[in-house]
Amino acid sequence: MSKKKVKVCPRCGSKSITPVLGTITGQLYKCPNCGYYGPFIIEANEEMIEEIKDDYEKNSKE
Ligand SMILES: [Zn+2]
Repeated sequence: MSKKKVKVCPRCGSKSITPVLGTITGQLYKCPNCGYYGPFIIEANEEMIEEIKDDYEKNSKE
């Protein structure tokens, strides 16, 4: 199991989250996978990413 942490979307766990430039208040991020747009991202290892993805999939089914 990898302990390496990567920046992922806090909502769906996607690694495709990308920084959006050009705000005064600070960096914003956008996720092409779930449409998340906001200032928060998380750094997670593979284990955490799996948990986030599981939660996201459960919530999206309801
Ligand atoms: Zn996302």
